[in-house]
Amino acid sequence: MRLLVVEDEPDLLAGLVRALRKQGYSVDTAPDGEEGLYKARDTNYDAIVLDVMLPRLDGWELLARLRETKATPVLMLTARDRSADRVRGLDAGADDYLVKPFDTPELLARLRALIRRTAGQTRTTLDIGEVQINTAARTVTSAGRPVTLTAREYVLLEYLALHRGDVVTRTELYEHLFDESETTLSNIIDVHVFNLRRKMGQDFIVTRRGHGYCIE
Ligand code: CA
Repeated sequence: MRLLVVEDEPDLLAGLVRALRKQGYSVDTAPDGEEGLYKARDTNYDAIVLDVMLPRLDGWELLARLRETKATPVLMLTARDRSADRVRGLDAGADDYLVKPFDTPELLARLRALIRRTAGQTRTTLDIGEVQINTAARTVTSAGRPVTLTAREYVLLEYLALHRGDVVTRTELYEHLFDESETTLSNIIDVHVFNLRRKMGQDFIVTRRGHGYCIE
């Protein structure tokens, strides 16, 4: 899952990025509204964390312009606990909001819910045959036994599971699993899939030659 965080306070931004990367998310950042809008239009993010008070272009204006072309889920950060601001954000097309200061675990939980809803999932667990993925706890069991995955393996598995039945191209996986700061080896996705199959069974992820990967 790849996220964009648009936030002009350096300490808050750094803390958020650290917490999100620790969860296995790929994270791009923008320190002002103009750069944020450019990136939000240019890349298909799984969700955007958007501060309201930003230099150059504020969060409201960014959101309004983004919504002309894109429905990317947006979680807004508002500094003021005023219901008028919350109403304005939701009316402008925000999918959720958090009032600053907020607890990081709550932000993470809201992001997970947002990404789940966007994929059409209302439950936190995904059942695929004997495999159960708990998207809240980020744990995986197979036939009741826990499967130990790296953070990157988990997000790859979750992404394929949320798009179950669809063939997900390698290009799409690279866009959603790696951020702008990473130089990726061209075969790194294949390596993660190889490791997932070793842990989950060879047939769990199907290769569609020339197209990509699929969980059926
Ligand atoms: Ca701000």
